[in-house]
Amino acid sequence: MALIVQKFGGSSVANAERLMNVAQRVIETYRQGNQVVVVLSAQGDTTDELIEKAMEIDEKPSKREMDMLLSTGEQISIALLAMAIGKLGCKAVSLTGQQIGIHTDSFHTHARIEKIDGERVRAELDAGRIVIAAGFQGINRHGDITTLGRGGSDTTAVALAAALQADLCEIYTDVDGVYTADPRIVPNARKLKDISFDEMLELASLGARVLNNRSVELAKKYSVNMVVRSSLNDHDGTLIKEVAEMEKMMIKGVAYDKDIARISIIAVRDIPGVAFKIFKLLADKDINVDIIIQSIGRGDTKDISFTIARNQLTDAVDLINKNLDYIGAREVNFTHDVAKVSIVGAGMANHPGVAADMFEALAKADINIHMISTSEIKISCLVRWDEAEKAVQAIHEKFELGRAAEE
Ligand code: ASP
Ligand code: MG
Repeated sequence: MALIVQKFGGSSVANAERLMNVAQRVIETYRQGNQVVVVLSAQGDTTDELIEKAMEIDEKPSKREMDMLLSTGEQISIALLAMAIGKLGCKAVSLTGQQIGIHTDSFHTHARIEKIDGERVRAELDAGRIVIAAGFQGINRHGDITTLGRGGSDTTAVALAAALQADLCEIYTDVDGVYTADPRIVPNARKLKDISFDEMLELASLGARVLNNRSVELAKKYSVNMVVRSSLNDHDGTLIKEVAEMEKMMIKGVAYDKDIARISIIAVRDIPGVAFKIFKLLADKDINVDIIIQSIGRGDTKDISFTIARNQLTDAVDLINKNLDYIGAREVNFTHDVAKVSIVGAGMANHPGVAADMFEALAKADINIHMISTSEIKISCLVRWDEAEKAVQAIHEKFELGRAAEE
């Protein structure tokens, strides 16, 4: 008997009809002789709507109360699914993060899971019940409700799969799997049969919105076999595992992220310790920095530019402005008018010329590159915001990612 964790996203449980469809799928897996733990997100746009409600009252609401509010979304969907499964003649029980024993730290609205008890879940499974777990939520050591950050239900699913030593963690969503690019932008984008944890991790953090990146991090750490597939059909989906089959493709996908901003600190004194001061200030405020460029000095100063998430721009700029004297810099400027376009693939490590091909694609499309960063398995370019889609199309075409379809 296998233990399978199945996670369904918000669109898969958006209404009664979809919920009944999910109930049927879950029951099918159960009737094949498996133990099944289902993890759910909130229905449809519930979480966004709850955030709006909070904003109507206070634009900077208490984070503890935000968690109290947002966790209700998942509580609705799990109760409804347990009813749907019951109606179809199977035994199911819904459990909140607290009932499952999902213990987190106390960083409200972006808590991390520290430990999962799992006894209750095991007891329910042994009693022959299907367990319906609320995604995205846990409790801290004071017993207060916490949430794991947007898209956190994926993390719940993988963490439960790891804690229960499940045989498989299936992530059901409204797309067929992981694609070479966003199919809404690149019509001939192709679904990948499999992808490695490292590649998926890059794609997820570079803006491919199929999976939450912390969930992939966890899956890698605990070697959880994961598959992403559609809740609306029976297609195979994309398998995410330690080492993907050596496909002919060295590039797995093109991703883009428009939710970023660029900050430049101008005329920074050219002495040891300056970069440390800047990035320590940001780190202490939990501001994540991505691409960093330091210019060659002129006179005794230099410029330092970097990108951050767009929603942290105001905080970061305020922080630097307040500390210009301490840093030893003249001024700071910034722009929203940027997007990051990236290619990912473990194969590029042993292929020279990949970067040149990417830059050639952008040059031919007449797209200017503002910043570049590379790692073993990815290359990212900063381009103008309104050129992101065109850049993705040009690069996808250049590497013939759609054409590998007919293998
Ligand atoms: N409902 C939460 C959100 O929308 C968690 C999730 O969907 O994974 O972010
Ligand atoms: Mg959601």
